[in-house]
Amino acid sequence: MTDRLALLVILDGLRRDALSPERTPNLWRLMGRGTAFTGYRSMFPSATRIVSASTATGCLPASHGLAGNSLALLREDGTLLPLDAGDPGFLPTRRALRGSALDRPTLADRLAPHGGVAIFSNVSPGAALAHDPNRSGRLVQRAIAHEPGREAAPATDITLDAAGDARLTARFLEEGLGGALGLLWLGEPDASQHAHPLGSPAAWAAITAADTRLGEVMAAVDRRRTAGQEVLLLAGSDHGHETVEAVIDVEAELAAAGLDPGETLVTASNGTSVLVHLAPSRDPAPVLEFLRARPWVGTLLEGEALAAAGQRPGAEGLIAAIAMRRHGGVNQYGIPGMALAAKPVAGKPDRLGCGQHGGLGAAEQAPVMIADGPGFAPGGRDAAPARPIDLAPTLLAFLGHGDAGVPMDGRPLQSRPSQQPPG
Ligand SMILES: [Zn+2]
Repeated sequence: MTDRLALLVILDGLRRDALSPERTPNLWRLMGRGTAFTGYRSMFPSATRIVSASTATGCLPASHGLAGNSLALLREDGTLLPLDAGDPGFLPTRRALRGSALDRPTLADRLAPHGGVAIFSNVSPGAALAHDPNRSGRLVQRAIAHEPGREAAPATDITLDAAGDARLTARFLEEGLGGALGLLWLGEPDASQHAHPLGSPAAWAAITAADTRLGEVMAAVDRRRTAGQEVLLLAGSDHGHETVEAVIDVEAELAAAGLDPGETLVTASNGTSVLVHLAPSRDPAPVLEFLRARPWVGTLLEGEALAAAGQRPGAEGLIAAIAMRRHGGVNQYGIPGMALAAKPVAGKPDRLGCGQHGGLGAAEQAPVMIADGPGFAPGGRDAAPARPIDLAPTLLAFLGHGDAGVPMDGRPLQSRPSQQPPG
């Protein structure tokens, strides 16, 4: 047993306003044991693969280079190659084209000489791989798996549902706690919220099931603390969800306006946001002018606003990003947050009336984060801004390792002056 064990548990897609003593008793209990970050936000786009890469590297997309769940890369001939970052081949493709899968080291890279990292993930293969594209640690997922330096057999029994999460958690508790850092990333409630309306019985059942998995991890933490191990447990989510009110075919609208989407103009859907890539041979002005006037655009992020959102304007032809229009109205179950979604070119169809994410909506940008362990006051509430990029610095600080000369964009959450005594 190592002296210190860091654990990160993510309940994918859980909104902060879903927490209650009845439906999420373990998260509720954890808030009493640790400090809750009430100003915690997601990344932009608020989507799993990008949050995974930012969690792993402690860096913004502008630094680690993964701009979204789907995106485009600029070819040498100046045309654009649209790609899905959820595909297991995406990061190897990026490495082949750009020299690195991600442009910053991951926690798995940093901790390989210091006890190592075990990642147990029940989201897309691409999101799982974003935690460790260099095979520095151990990765367990249903379609992709590795040990340090070599491939391993995927965990094909881990289905993307509550039963699969339960099997993955059992295996994590058996095999994933032996190193410096164990990371458990559940597929629920995200999967059920994409398939059922927010606030429906099926969505609540998925939330409570994911909370039960967290309770199992908390019990293991208690046993280890009793045995004398110092344990830091970070638990929360990567983004929230809002309800899809309508689906917009952005590409069809651009085509109808004569703006010729294709090899020189790619609008990559990230659910309720869109990344707009344009080949350098083309003038951005007509595209931007068209988008500024669309009623389905909530916010068009260009230039400094795009940079402030953590993206790198100009990289891979990225000229703008769209946060789709949304409003604070409620769905049939009284859950607030109604958003327009951008039709994906391929992959998961958006289900009208069900959950989605990717943009800047209030609920999408209000995920959960609670820290229980050394440096965090029991029952504490910290309202200062915090983001997924702060998790890697926090975990490394607890384990006694700094940035080793390769800086991160985030800051450790321990002992911030903004932490307040329980109120
Ligand atoms: Zn997610």
